[in-house]
Order: sequence, then C-alpha cells, then structure tokens
Amino acid sequence: MSVQTLTILGATGSIGGSTLDVVRRHPDRYRVFALTAFQRMAELADLCREFRPDCAVAATAEQAAALAGALRADGIATEVLWGEQGLIQVAAHEQVDAVMAAIVGAAGLESALAAARAGKRVLLANKEALVMAGPVFMAAVRENGAVLLPIDSEHNAIFQSLPRGFSRNLDDDGVRRILLTASGGPFRTTPAEAMAAVTPAQAVAHPKWSMGPKISVDSATLMNKGLEVIEASFLFNLPAERIDVVVHPQSIIHSLVEYVDGSVLAQLGNPDMRTPIAHALAYPERIDSGVAPLDLFQVARLDFEAPDLERFPCLGLAYRALREGGRSPAVLNAANEVAVAAFLDGRIGFAAIPRLIAAVLDEVGTSAVHSLGDVREADRLARQAALGRVAGH
Ligand code: NAD
Ligand code: MG
Repeated sequence: MSVQTLTILGATGSIGGSTLDVVRRHPDRYRVFALTAFQRMAELADLCREFRPDCAVAATAEQAAALAGALRADGIATEVLWGEQGLIQVAAHEQVDAVMAAIVGAAGLESALAAARAGKRVLLANKEALVMAGPVFMAAVRENGAVLLPIDSEHNAIFQSLPRGFSRNLDDDGVRRILLTASGGPFRTTPAEAMAAVTPAQAVAHPKWSMGPKISVDSATLMNKGLEVIEASFLFNLPAERIDVVVHPQSIIHSLVEYVDGSVLAQLGNPDMRTPIAHALAYPERIDSGVAPLDLFQVARLDFEAPDLERFPCLGLAYRALREGGRSPAVLNAANEVAVAAFLDGRIGFAAIPRLIAAVLDEVGTSAVHSLGDVREADRLARQAALGRVAGH
C-alpha cells in the first residue's frame, strides 16, 4: 500500500475536521501535504503542530506572516502561503495525490477546479463548485484524467449504489432515476405561518447532522437539497426529471438508485460524514471511519414523505434553475449565498430568503455558459442584484 499525500482545503471546517479525524486513524496510509483556513488561525496553527504539513494557506499576507512566525518559534518548517493563489498552488502541487475540497461556497470553486485540472483525485464536498460551473468542472475532470469522488452523503450513496466504473450515460447501466433523501431539516413540521419568525439560532440547529452555518441554513430552507439536485444532475449526467427528492427524517438511507428492472439500491448508515469521507479517501478499498455500526433495532422504523414545495420554495427554485440551465444555477447559488449571509446577520427574515432568490433569478435572467469567465460574470451580476435587494429591505 502506497502512502497517499493529501491537501485539505477548508481544514478548520466541519468537513475538514471530520477528514482529519479519519486521517488520524490511519497514519500509515495518509500524509498531509497542505492545510488551509480562512479564519480561526490559532486552530490552523494547532493542526500544523499536529500534522506537520509542508504547506499551510491563510487568507491574508498578515495572517500568513503571523502563522509562519508562530510555527518557526516551535521549530516547525511549514511554508505558509496566502490567498486564492496559495489555495490553487497547494491544490495542484505535483506532490499531491488527493485534494479534499471542503471550502464553503463560491470561494471554493477556483481551488477545486485547479485540483481537477491537475488531474488529482478530487474529494468534492464543495457542492457550490458543481452548481456554479457544472459543465466546466466535469469537462476539466474528463480532460485531465482526474478522479471525482463525491463527499456529499447523498451523492456518495448514489456513487456506491451504481455499478463500479458507471458510464456517463446511465441508460447504459439500466438506471431509471435517482432518489435523493432529505432529512427535512429543523422546520419539517413547522406551520407556514410560523416560518417568517424563525431565528438564525433555530435555523442552524439541525436535528440529524452537525455542519457549518451556511449549509445548516440551506438545510432549513431545503435549498441544500435543491443544490444537491443540481449537483447530482452534473455528476451523474441526468436531467431534472430523473432526480427526485424523498423526505426521510431518520437520515439512515442516504439516497437510492432505481433500475429499469424494478430494483432499488441504497446505501445506509448512521448520519456521520466520516463514512462518505473514509469511503472516498480509501476508494476502492474500505477503511475504518470511527463511525458506530448501524443498529437497526434502535432505528426501528424508516419514514418517507413528499417534500412540501409551498413551505419550502427554495427546492422548486433550484429545479427551475436547473431546467433553465446556462447561468441560472450560478445565479441561484450566488443569490442564495447573499441571502443566507443576510439572514445570519439579522438583516432579512427567513421567509425573505426564497423571495430574494426568485427576484434575482428573474432580474438577471439566463444565458449560455461557455467558460469560467461566463460563470464569474453570472456570479458577480447575481451578487450585485441580491445585495441591492438586501440594502432595500
Ligand atoms: P464550515 O463553515 O464548517 O467550514 C468551511 C471551511 O472553509 C473553513 O475551513 C473555512 O476557514 C474555509 N473558508 C470559508 N470561507 C473561505 C474563503 N472565502 N476562502 C477560503 N477558505 C474559506 O463548512 P462545512 O460545513 O465544513 O462545509 C464545507 C463544504 O462542504 C460546503 O460546500 C458544504 O456544502 C459541503 N458539505 C458539508 C457537509 C457537512 O456535514 N458539514 C455535508 C455535505 C457537504
Ligand atoms: Mg448532503
């Protein structure tokens, strides 16, 4: 077994922490080449002391200088880079075998794409990269021989439920449709009238998963599932009509694939991101992840219900953006990022999130995307439109 050299983008986040927890269990299999963080520099310093990476990446030159000084004082020779160029450098570095792309939001696009262009094994948690730039990203993977392994638990479950080495045309593999499961989030049973008064603290308190603040709000609006429908469409090359969402509050079935002969294959497990992370790290082998075995007697029952598109309009907006195609998914993503940040800052209410996104989709409109430049332009226009609407609130 050869040692795999890793870059972990977003090492101080929820996915970054779970990744390092799995890596810690297998010192014989993995070596950390680079760790990156945007804030929480003391945490990044501690991780550098523990994992002794060749490189670390901070957000600014000042942060980088301070971190390098602190590490030097401890006799640690980690080179500290900064900014987007630093992220791209450690994602594409020739010594690196695999890159965990776990930065949150559009900020993770360029470095994840750099890993794909450099032909790495790309462990993709940053779903926003695929939502924004799906065709560009998938072309970079194919043209450079990168191996794309989904970390999002639903997409990892589908990957595991497809034949190994599945084709880009799932008709050839006998797939009729895929079903993404959704926990329903903290407001699954909250009446429509009560949704407007929801607070940020209530929205980030997810019943089943422990995650960063942005994806927690996305789970509460069901935009997370909407982004995942778009992510699945690009990853598995399926149109919107062949991707369905099933609300499953226990979060034990992580998603399902339905075949033409009536077979439905699923992946089950406790809701803990270390399972998909360990799967992707070791693929095609299997390693211990630290996750407790699934106790079906304790789970006892599995429930399923249809999503309520009236109480959760964000899911419908994501389907709309996917059907419109072109730049609409990038516009949806940017408007959502602005709306979620404004909600977390107390500047807009919970029910204003879908209204704002719908208005920005209408205002910016769709057009074809041919390059990363078109994606960046869509992102810029949508942020400008969304910020204007937040200011006018
Ligand atoms: P998080 O907020 O906990 O961590 C985000 C990480 O990105 C941190 O290390 C932070 O320092 C870094 N970061 C933030 N802004 C940055 C910027 N502008 N430039 C560079 N680095 C920046 O988020 P998370 O919950 O770990 O989610 C990370 C990604 O994984 C998201 O795309 C999310 O949708 C996806 N994901 C997360 C989970 C989960 O369980 N947390 C599950 C599925 C998918
Ligand atoms: Mg998910």
